[in-house]
Amino acid sequence: MPSFFFYTLFYVLISGCIVYPPTEFVTAGLTIKDIFSSWIGSEDKSFVQYHIRRSVITLFVHSALPFGYGYGLILFEHINISNYFTLWSIFMVSTVLIPIYTLYKIWDWSKDNWSEHPIAKNLVIYCNSGNNNTTAQWSTVASDINSEYERPDKIIIPTSSISFVAVTDNWIIKVLPYTVNIAHQSDAVLIVNKSDTHEMSPMTGREIQFINIEVKSSRAGAKPFDIRLNVFHFKKLQDKVSRPITILQNIKFQKSLLDKFIDNFKEQVQENPYYEFTEELEQCIGCMQASSNVKLNRQCTSGIGTGNPEDCMVCYCRPMWCIDCMAKWFASKQDEDAPETWFSSKCTCPVCRARFCILDVCLIRSAQM
Ligand SMILES: [Zn+2]
Ligand SMILES: [Zn+2]
Ligand SMILES: [Zn+2]
Repeated sequence: MPSFFFYTLFYVLISGCIVYPPTEFVTAGLTIKDIFSSWIGSEDKSFVQYHIRRSVITLFVHSALPFGYGYGLILFEHINISNYFTLWSIFMVSTVLIPIYTLYKIWDWSKDNWSEHPIAKNLVIYCNSGNNNTTAQWSTVASDINSEYERPDKIIIPTSSISFVAVTDNWIIKVLPYTVNIAHQSDAVLIVNKSDTHEMSPMTGREIQFINIEVKSSRAGAKPFDIRLNVFHFKKLQDKVSRPITILQNIKFQKSLLDKFIDNFKEQVQENPYYEFTEELEQCIGCMQASSNVKLNRQCTSGIGTGNPEDCMVCYCRPMWCIDCMAKWFASKQDEDAPETWFSSKCTCPVCRARFCILDVCLIRSAQM
């Protein structure tokens, strides 16, 4: 029965793309939220109601996938049903029962203006007590969240093709396929408790680090939830969250490519000969904070006198830069996509444009003292 096998494989693949849409499906608008967009409405205008509708339609479509599989088998006559009659009927009955039960559950949630839905229940926790009408309660919180989400200053961090984190002035929101977790910033505690590193491409050796942030609210009934994000989004999140984010001691943040380069650059420059300088050193014109401490002084000997236009040149500029700024300037002139070539590449003096290499960057020894 090869056709049975191929049908099954095809159905599993399509189901996978429905549950966890790859980028191609997302850009082509082949996701549940795009297909049902006219019923789901606008995320920006009514964020909470949008996600209640989106989550129930998602749940229903997912619950109907096994039925679609069984129905296809009958339709295309891939198996002879009479051979497996008992097993087959149990399977078919359950594929019908799952979506029926899901529909019943959705109907149950929808009573009283969705006040039984898990998202509405997550919202009720944040109500001020005194109002016993649950519908009125969750919709007050919902309209607060909606109006904050409508503002342009919220931040949105995608965490996968089916989930994202949004932070508004007062709320931290994590959107998942079937539900939405929320925490009010005023009583939330955020702890970075885990991190893991993945190699992005073995060619460049570049790695990406993910961190896990636990968000706990001190409200009675609030469940903690985790946010997992690329470490490069951390600063953005930290800037928007008004609470301090605790980073557990054993978590080490990966240094950026630039930080690593600056470290290596400094190490190399330490080994170069010093440049004796008798005059007073001025402030670095790059950062205006440190005093200048490097001079471009040709040391490398490769190609002297050959007149090759790629050779290093003599820079006559006074010392005007600190080593950090010089390292950053050097990195800024390099090919971003080939960090492995940075160290052996050349750069030009920021002032006179004389070409230099790392060997030509000399720390200054002040002869004054
Ligand atoms: Zn500087
Ligand atoms: Zn120069
Ligand atoms: Zn050189």
